[in-house]
Amino acid sequence: MTATGPELTEPGEILRRNVPRAMFDGEKMSKTAFAPSDHDGMTSTLRGHVSVADAASRWEGNSPLIGTWPLPVHLANEIGLPCYDDGQQPCACGCEAMYPEDHASVDHRVLPSRSAQLRAARKIRDAVEAAGPLT
Ligand SMILES: [Zn+2]
Repeated sequence: MTATGPELTEPGEILRRNVPRAMFDGEKMSKTAFAPSDHDGMTSTLRGHVSVADAASRWEGNSPLIGTWPLPVHLANEIGLPCYDDGQQPCACGCEAMYPEDHASVDHRVLPSRSAQLRAARKIRDAVEAAGPLT
């Protein structure tokens, strides 16, 4: 269970989390909008130096993008989740995939269960939802 890049150590860095329409129940952001993927156990983001427009332009999901939300490194760290700079590094699950350029992962694998991961993801959602998307 290793990460594939160095841990991010600048607490003020604001990672970019692209959130698609499928992550909204009407007007309310889904409690899983910041959940880790089943694939690698991480929440996929882009580094803080990526502009909001650039982050949006890199969206490749099937559901249309609604916006790009802030995910501060310190917020993840405060609930026990390390963040890794793994752009252009191999997928942490060990498969053949590579993360895209400027990718960063919030690592939920340190938590003991899926339910603990979903609680952490809800805390992040609750903390950033009111701020709205980055502009
Ligand atoms: Zn993988």
